[in-house]
Amino acid sequence: MSDIPQIGTQGTTGTVPIHSTDEAMEKINREMGEKTAFEEAKNKGMGYINIALTPINPDILYLVRPEIAKSAQILPFFRIGKKIRIAVVKPENQLTEQALQDLRNRGYLLNLNLASESGMKEALKIYDTEYHETHEIENVLDEETLEAYEKEIENLTQLKEKLKDVTSEEALNYINVGAIKTGASDIHYQPEEKNVMVRFRIDGVLQEIFRIERPLFENIANQIKYKAKMKLNINNVPQDGRFSFVINKRKIDVRVSAIPTEFGETFVCRLLDSRRSAFEYDKLGFQGFALDHIKKITKLTNGMVLVTGPTGSGKTTTLYSILSAFNNPEKKIITLEDPIEYNLPLISQSQINEKRGYDFANGLRAILRQDPDIIMIGEIRDLPTAETCAQASLTGHVVLTTLHTNSAVETIPRLLNMGLPPFMIAPTLSIIIAQRLVRRVCPKCGVERKLLALEKQELETAIQNIHAVSPGTKITLPEKVKKPVGCPACSHTGFAGQIAVVEVLRVDSDIKNLILNGASTAIIFDTARKKNMLTMREDGLMKMIEGITTLEEVTRMMAA
Ligand SMILES: [Zn+2]
Repeated sequence: MSDIPQIGTQGTTGTVPIHSTDEAMEKINREMGEKTAFEEAKNKGMGYINIALTPINPDILYLVRPEIAKSAQILPFFRIGKKIRIAVVKPENQLTEQALQDLRNRGYLLNLNLASESGMKEALKIYDTEYHETHEIENVLDEETLEAYEKEIENLTQLKEKLKDVTSEEALNYINVGAIKTGASDIHYQPEEKNVMVRFRIDGVLQEIFRIERPLFENIANQIKYKAKMKLNINNVPQDGRFSFVINKRKIDVRVSAIPTEFGETFVCRLLDSRRSAFEYDKLGFQGFALDHIKKITKLTNGMVLVTGPTGSGKTTTLYSILSAFNNPEKKIITLEDPIEYNLPLISQSQINEKRGYDFANGLRAILRQDPDIIMIGEIRDLPTAETCAQASLTGHVVLTTLHTNSAVETIPRLLNMGLPPFMIAPTLSIIIAQRLVRRVCPKCGVERKLLALEKQELETAIQNIHAVSPGTKITLPEKVKKPVGCPACSHTGFAGQIAVVEVLRVDSDIKNLILNGASTAIIFDTARKKNMLTMREDGLMKMIEGITTLEEVTRMMAA
């Protein structure tokens, strides 16, 4: 080990007491290891992290599999959206490089922090106890939003000090405002043996914000229970309640659920912001008529909403956003998923289990007996599921689900081929959303390039079509378009984050009649065009013209 000679070279050997135990020696070695890592990081212009002392969010361990983490000596320890802070010991090591490249290929932006070998060894033990496989959802966030979150979270960490000197009511307000500012959907107060962990769920991912001492938590907990009209003297049975507060003239409803645990009551406060859902659809990539249509889904009282696209097209994210938009605690929402990709508070989620006969079709029948208002089914894979979905939506339920098709209109022949008759499809379908993902050009390093003559021609025709289909769309033929370059901020990929490219077909009475009369896909498509439906390609081109993505990305996406 390089630690030992270094103690000598730095002249600290003399400070080691002769009677030092192995433990003391180990401690010194560890400290020297940290010091070496710190110096090395400085020389390399990298960040340094004392990883053994850093609280690690177990929810993000799945990003790197245990055997990879151990062989490559890397450990992700903090994540916001697609941005990951990751500890590394030997960045030049081939295994390390491979593992990091793999993460980048999956679309993550990495911030590398050098850690000592001994610290890493210690920290990696977390995989033995806390690791569980989960599935990631695609996060569609832009760079600016991420930076804003990071800054806010830094401020929040300082907030912890502030909380000590204020009343419990003020402390609760500070935390609530902090959560709203970071766009969090929930606040979790989780008591542990010695203190209480406060976590925010931001874009579906739980992030540890800080830990507070128990006496302070007891005060905040009482404040929450008081405000939410829960029984103050009861802490051994689950309780629910709600309260609201106002921030920037926005009323935020808070749904509180308290559950007794080993170390005291755990509180989950869900923040219901009525303005949130519209913003989120924007962020996902919905605009114009597509945005209008998706926003109206929450007004439905029955009918089927289908999100279609290949694997990795962001379907699940869209479905979850729609579910969150329903946001009405009086509505009963049940999901049937394989697997559950994302935990949503206050929604009953269930996982299919083929071995126990709990498949999509059987599960759906079981769910219907619980009389939900809204049902989310992970995917329609066969006729029995399609039939049950159709029946459910005909009997006063809203059914949200996905299907693998290449365009919105193609969904109709797809259901027909499955064996669902036109007289069931027509009254059932409400909205079909087809989508893909394109990468966003990194705002830090993207440059402009001139359009080639041929590209100009094609684009001109596309713009004419867009104007014809969707009058009032404000786009013109650009002189220049974006070209990716690559910089440290985007890990030299030239891209940062992704955005959905969509086409939304509202199945109105005209389209329903066409389906009933067995009209061809071409006729249905033409009718949809007359009702302002832009295609995914057109939506992508508009995003390209706005400088969000590149022409090459749109072409790649259409070929996928
Ligand atoms: Zn860049």
